[in-house]
Amino acid sequence: MESEISEIFGHLGKLIEAHRDMGLEPPPLSDEALRYLENAESGINTIRAKEAKVPYTPDGAPDRGEQPHSLEALRAAIGECKRCKLHKNRTSLVFGEGSPRAELVFVGEGPGQEEDMSGRPFVGEAGRLLTKIIENGMRLARREVYICNVVKCRPPGNRDPVRDEIEACIPFLQQQLRIIGPKVICSLGRVAAQCLIGPGFKITEERGTWRSYEETPLMPTYHPAYLLRYPSAKQQVWEDIKKVMGHLGLEVKKNG
Ligand code: SF4
Repeated sequence: MESEISEIFGHLGKLIEAHRDMGLEPPPLSDEALRYLENAESGINTIRAKEAKVPYTPDGAPDRGEQPHSLEALRAAIGECKRCKLHKNRTSLVFGEGSPRAELVFVGEGPGQEEDMSGRPFVGEAGRLLTKIIENGMRLARREVYICNVVKCRPPGNRDPVRDEIEACIPFLQQQLRIIGPKVICSLGRVAAQCLIGPGFKITEERGTWRSYEETPLMPTYHPAYLLRYPSAKQQVWEDIKKVMGHLGLEVKKNG
């Protein structure tokens, strides 16, 4: 109950932030109330972590012997999934796309509206920015990497996926990563990082530092949607991407 109330406040806080981004005045609330709403979102994660009876990243993956051995087989096994409530409003299940032999996998939190409509990950405004990072910054083709999300169906109103949705869906991501076996994972944004690293991960303080997911090096960085709101963070993301490129043996442009 506590987490549900906090989530409602968290969403109100996001709404106010979006209003500000559009240049609108925040609602006439006291400074204290506004501060509370803006902080509520980070509070949700603390509560989630406290309440979690199982690790935030579920480790109850099915018997390895029964796991699909290809992405196609995994996609077929997922079928018209109804394992969590996100299936109710989806247009498409957004499985992921790219090379099944990718050395680099990007992981975001979940599909947005354009992704839901098209069935492809990261094709909206934030996705176009990610594509620029891959193509112009890293000098790779988008099809050379793999791009997917923690949850495969769009959370309503682009809210963050909640714990039961993540727990239902994350085994699919775990299997994608196992099948692909990348050299590096790059998590995009707080939710993906917390799912792959742990609930205590603080994106603003800890992005850009190497972590690992099941022995695969993992570089947590900001979500491109964050860069659309805060373009000044682009330099930090570029520094993180350069570390990924270094690990992959890719040449970094001097003035990139
Ligand atoms: S989000 Fe994942 S678990 Fe939930 S319905 Fe979609 S595919 Fe299934």
